[in-house]
Amino acid sequence: MPSFGIVIHGGAGAIAKSAMTPELEKRYHDGLREALTAGYKILESGGTALDAVQKAVNVMEDSPLFNAGRGAVFTNAGRNEMDAAIMEGATLKAGAVAGVRNIKNPIDLARLVMEKTPHLLLARDGAEEFARLNGLEMMPDEYFFTENRWQQLQKAIELEKKRNERSRSGSESDSEQKFGTVGAVALDQSGNLAAATSTGGMTNSRHGRIGDSPLIGAGTYADNQTCAVSATGHGEFIIRAVVAYDLSALMRYRGLTLVEAAEKVIFGRFQELGGTGGLVAIDRRGNIALPFNTPGMYRGHYLQGKQIETSIYKE
Ligand code: ASP
Repeated sequence: MPSFGIVIHGGAGAIAKSAMTPELEKRYHDGLREALTAGYKILESGGTALDAVQKAVNVMEDSPLFNAGRGAVFTNAGRNEMDAAIMEGATLKAGAVAGVRNIKNPIDLARLVMEKTPHLLLARDGAEEFARLNGLEMMPDEYFFTENRWQQLQKAIELEKKRNERSRSGSESDSEQKFGTVGAVALDQSGNLAAATSTGGMTNSRHGRIGDSPLIGAGTYADNQTCAVSATGHGEFIIRAVVAYDLSALMRYRGLTLVEAAEKVIFGRFQELGGTGGLVAIDRRGNIALPFNTPGMYRGHYLQGKQIETSIYKE
């Protein structure tokens, strides 16, 4: 078994092959490889799983391709509001931020909350003030503007209007919603696990909406006794199915393997409720799982003694 390694995702959703060009596909693969390599290097040189997941997430936050940090999607108010969480499996310590704006790397702020406050979750202006006090890098609104995300919002608003005119239910729009989020889970050479998730949320969500990513046990969880998990997909369902903790609990109380537990969570309760999405997970022995029930999930892994691997669609 690998003695260390990292697994990441760059969001799950209706990634249509028809809307992809070979160039764009390559950019996604390159982005994933860059994030995996950044995290792997830390693990290889004896660094912590916590540092590795943070660094991997930083790389994806800095890329306009992924829905986190720079490439965050827009809410219905035309703003970027970001959520992030990080958790350490050895201590069960965690930090999270919700609804923050203008923070270049929300995962760094989540870690600061974990390490420098007695709290776990800071939100909105209070979190931003804490970021400023700690000298975290802030960016103007323009930094987070990407034409592609703006067009996605316009399309989503248009669709919503049409639907309202026909007074149809909202369930249809959900499956067409463009998801995204980035996440990483890692096992280090000391046998410690960590998880990190960072997101711009869902396109055209109501201003003020908070998703699953910053909620410990829903979108993010790590426990050395079981596994580290980062989820992506329709946040409301991930919260209701308590996806990340459910996976850990299935291992802990029912003795399921990582893969059994991960599949049970995604294709069981979560899917039955109507949830779409996926997760990445790793356990103490370096077993990994990357289940998803959407047409695609940007994902990859880099495990000691194995090749780096990235994929987008179902195999
Ligand atoms: N889970 C994220 C949220 O609902 C979005 C995503 O992963 O696509 O905020």
